[in-house]
Order: sequence, then C-alpha cells, then structure tokens
Amino acid sequence: MREVIVIGSGPAGYTAALYTARASLQPLVFEGAVTAGGALMTTTDVENFPGFRDGIMGPDLMDNMRAQAERFGAELIADDVTVVDLTGDLKTVTDSAGTTHRAKAVIIATGSQHRKLGLPREDELSGRGVSWCATCDGFFFREHDIAVIGGGDTALEEATFLSRFAKSVTVIHRRDALRASKAMQERAFADPKITFRWDSEVTEIHGEQKLSGLTLRDTKTGATSLLPVIGLFIAIGHDPRTELFQDLLELDNEGYLKVDSPTTRTKIPGVFAAGDVVDHTYRQAITAAGTGCSAALDAERYLAALN
Ligand code: FAD
Repeated sequence: MREVIVIGSGPAGYTAALYTARASLQPLVFEGAVTAGGALMTTTDVENFPGFRDGIMGPDLMDNMRAQAERFGAELIADDVTVVDLTGDLKTVTDSAGTTHRAKAVIIATGSQHRKLGLPREDELSGRGVSWCATCDGFFFREHDIAVIGGGDTALEEATFLSRFAKSVTVIHRRDALRASKAMQERAFADPKITFRWDSEVTEIHGEQKLSGLTLRDTKTGATSLLPVIGLFIAIGHDPRTELFQDLLELDNEGYLKVDSPTTRTKIPGVFAAGDVVDHTYRQAITAAGTGCSAALDAERYLAALN
C-alpha cells in the first residue's frame, strides 16, 4: 500500500516523483514500457529548459530528472499501467503483468502523443529537421527554407511564428481550404514569407543525417514535385493519452483531462493530473515540470489532510 503512485515519466511525472520523494512519500512511478522518459527522448538539443546555459540533449535531460527522483527514493517501474480504479479512497493501478498496486493518491502525467505522418525517415530525422514544436525548434532554422504541414489553427500559428526566423515558410495542406479561424488565415495570408501548397501531401521525407527535402504529391492530379527544405514542422494534431481515464474523469472537448485549475485536482479526490495530458496551450517541458511540481504539492496536502 503506497501513499502515491505516479503514472508517466516525462518532465511532469519525474518532477512529481522528485517532489513526492523529497516529501518522504516514497512514490511508485510507472514510466511506460517503450516510451520511458517521455517526448524529449525523441529529440536532440533542448535549448530552452532553464539551467542549461549551453543547452542539453533531450535524453540527457530526462536521464538527469530520472536519477534525481531516484536519489530521493522514488521507485521506478518501466511498465505500462493497463487498468486503473480510482473511485474509492484506495486507488488501484494494474500493470501489464497483471500486478495490482494500491495507493491513497494517484498523479496522472501520461502526456500527449503528437500525430505523425507515418512516413519512413520521419522518426530518424526527428530533432534533425523534423519537428512537432515551433516554439522549441524554430530558432534552429534562422534564414532557412522550411515547411509546415496542416491546415488548422496550430499549423498557421506555427507558420506565423516561424516566419520571424525563416527565409521562407511553405504551408502544405491536403485540401484547397483551411480549417483555421478567419483571423489566423488573414494573418498568414498577409505574411510575405508564407506561401501555400494547396491540395498537396508529403509522400517522402529525404535526408540522411539531416532533413534535405520532401516529395509532394498533388492530391488532384497525382503529379509529384520536390520541395527542398531543411525544416519540417508537422502540425496535424495531438492525442492526449487519456484512454485509461475516459470513463472515470472529465475530459474537455479535445480529449484532455480537466482539472480544477490552477490546481491539479481532478473531479475525484486524491487523483491529480499534470503536464501535456492536461495542457493543450503551452506544451513545453518546463510547463509540464511546473505542473508536475504542483501535482506533487497538491497530493502531499491531500494526504496530510487524510492523516
Ligand atoms: P511526456 O513527456 O509525453 O511523457 C509522458 C509519459 O507518460 C511517457 O513517459 C510515457 O511513457 C508515459 N505513459 C503514457 N501512458 C502510460 C501508461 N499507460 N502507463 C505508464 N506510463 C505511461 N519542449 C521544450 O520545452 N523544449 C524543447 O526543445 C522541446 N522539444 C520537443 C521535441 C519533440 C520532438 C517533442 C515531441 C516535444 C518537444 N517538446 C519540447 C515538448 C515537451 O517534450 C513536452 O511538452 C513534454 O515532454 C511534456 O511532458 P509530460 O511529462 O507531460 O509528457
């Protein structure tokens, strides 16, 4: 019987683990079977996490967070949680081996999965030209030609942000009209650095060590062409990892967990949520770590009140 179980091992999960461990709550942390360390394990340089003047590689940052949580007594299990029962005073969490663990409090930090194109080279070139986050990586593409895929608000927001740095931004959209809001469209259309490739989809990603270009296919004519770019931002959406909680907790209309903001409390006492599984606005490592800290403090106070 545990005081607290943390589900997830990105910046939110490890920070929650660190804080609860230092509060002598001996957290049990489920890191996930194949994605332990979270989204930053798939990138290279992280230049915007405070405290690292020269930047740090994503996997190194996560190794440090992991080791720091372990140093204070967090117990880590590299497995997925497959079933949860969070309704009673005692919460139960079952892992993929079928073992059930019990705790008085649970912190959910399962992140959100960025949607991929599903093309060869996409994963290999992640952090080497292929990105899912303009705020994180835009700075690396100063004065270069880059492309953004998508037709919604996020895609146009990324394109408009990227045009500050880039020489040119090509927005690739598979239809001939955008889903984005009118205001967002007007801003993008007025930006001289942004051009649109309508009715187009990416069929190939090129490059060995770094992205060098894309093959585009015209969805109406079938004609293919090469677009030489060294940066590709994929903005076709995210899927918050809430599948375990759908019937138990409240979700917003985009499927993210709802919390009693600015706290991390969910509608079930003793269940807290932090990081990208809640946040579709900021989606940064530092904001995930920040809410992971808040969740740990909220859990600590909840447990103190129980005793
Ligand atoms: P995640 O990091 O996504 O971690 C979620 C964790 O939950 C994973 O460990 C997963 O294994 C675990 N999990 C999920 N389901 C289960 C389950 N059922 N059982 C057990 N575990 C489970 N942000 C920046 O600030 N700077 C950057 O430079 C930057 N670069 C990025 C580059 C890339 C390629 C990507 C994809 C994102 C980048 N980000 C960056 C964004 C940043 O990575 C995320 O905002 C951050 O990782 C979110 O943290 P999180 O802890 O909420 O979730």
